[in-house]
Amino acid sequence: MDYEAVIGLEVHVHLKTKTKAFCACSTEFGQEPNSQACPVCLGFPGSLPVLNKVALDYAIKVALALNCKVQEYTKFDRKNYFYPDLPKNYQISQYDLPLSKDGFLDIDTDDKTKHIRIRRVHLEEDAGKLIHQQEISLVDFNRTGIPLLEIVSEPDMNYPQEAYEYLTTLKSIIGYLDVSDCDMEKGSLRCDANISIRKTGSLELGIKTELKNMNSFKAVKDGLGFEISRQIELLSKGKSIIQDTRLWDAKSAKTFSMRTKEEAQDYRYFPDPDLPPFLISHKKIEEIKESIPELPQSKKIRFMKEYGLSEYDSKILVASKKDADYAEECFKDYPDENKKPVANWLIGPLASIANANNKTISEVEIPGGIQEFIKLIKLEQSGNISNLVAKSVFSESITNLVLSSEIIKNKNLFQISDSKNLDNLVDEVIKENIKSVDDYKNGKGNALMFLVGQVMRKSKGVANPKVVQEILRRRLSDG
Ligand code: ADP
Ligand code: MG
Ligand code: ZN
Repeated sequence: MDYEAVIGLEVHVHLKTKTKAFCACSTEFGQEPNSQACPVCLGFPGSLPVLNKVALDYAIKVALALNCKVQEYTKFDRKNYFYPDLPKNYQISQYDLPLSKDGFLDIDTDDKTKHIRIRRVHLEEDAGKLIHQQEISLVDFNRTGIPLLEIVSEPDMNYPQEAYEYLTTLKSIIGYLDVSDCDMEKGSLRCDANISIRKTGSLELGIKTELKNMNSFKAVKDGLGFEISRQIELLSKGKSIIQDTRLWDAKSAKTFSMRTKEEAQDYRYFPDPDLPPFLISHKKIEEIKESIPELPQSKKIRFMKEYGLSEYDSKILVASKKDADYAEECFKDYPDENKKPVANWLIGPLASIANANNKTISEVEIPGGIQEFIKLIKLEQSGNISNLVAKSVFSESITNLVLSSEIIKNKNLFQISDSKNLDNLVDEVIKENIKSVDDYKNGKGNALMFLVGQVMRKSKGVANPKVVQEILRRRLSDG
């Protein structure tokens, strides 16, 4: 029997405000434990929360970028539960009147764009952080009250890869808005993945499980993959799925049940009496809408049209706004209408140097800057230097902080395209490789490439391979 998976994600992201959601404590990461807590975020009796205006603006910004309808009338509710990381014994969240709802996010799949509906985006506060040691557990309240955005998707994904793509796309958009780092390792993005299985073609939803404790997008994908196999195995044995919350264990690459639905608690939501309901004006929504920059999806399409790039190249270049801006700076300096050669350099040699140094492409320091970079690309494109030489000059230039044009001049690396200068090298190679010459004459086309390679080696990479190939062909057909 054929089964399909159904996946819905609940994502929490920290908003990058200077202060917490309802008090003036700093949100700075990595400070001395419990140095950023006050009576408000610790819930002392008599203290009163005040909504952080910037947190609200950021939340609205994300909601709009995710095509959600921002509600005019909204309010905060208390979600009540007891846990050591929650000093107030309730979390300020939003229940029945969330800030926004009914949006969508388009993601790329192998063959098409897929529309993933977003159920709601609402604002809440984070809890503290528990640090478990051998005999005891410690709690750090610095995180308590940091503004948190909850983004809930509809169960519209069917493959772990789609969940991965959803998270990548979401992170890219939020990065463009510059309102969160979305760093799973630092805990500024967390994801609960809901997953169920049903017979292919059925419209009914199966019983779901909820996965937690994944610390990377890849872990989300792996956890979902494991869970799909586990559920299909149970169902095909005629067993049923138990609705539970499961923890992903990266070491064993398995999920383990943490609690079942019966153990789930009733949060007894009620409106927070300290934070009266409020209205969001149309004007404010419009203002925030205006401040949203061109987002990655439209930028990708524009790059394809304007610069003649493939979808694949465009997508890589627009993933972060900083890199996309940098790419456009480079394109401006390159005279041809088609910017594909520049894109190749950005995605190829520059990106690999960036990766090796844990940087993004715009952060790599190229001696002489964009101008020198483009000069090098032009030399390579016009055939004045070979691609191989250009690449090694480029990396030497960055490592040793020397202009690439200096390296080319000092080492005399201009490509030899002049056949007179190549004749001697070709002569030598023909003499030294009689067997390959015979092979070629006997119809083995590959032998020619070998001979070209030998000439290239003798020239230390500066010969123009196209010209070498022409000379060899001519010489070998003369007999
Ligand atoms: P809960 O009440 O358990 O929190 P919700 O209906 O609020 O469940 O949905 C939470 C998340 O789970 C949403 O992202 C939703 O898309 C997803 N979800 C709900 N039902 C299913 C299902 N049967 N299979 C997969 N995902 C689901
Ligand atoms: Mg829920
Ligand atoms: Zn505080």
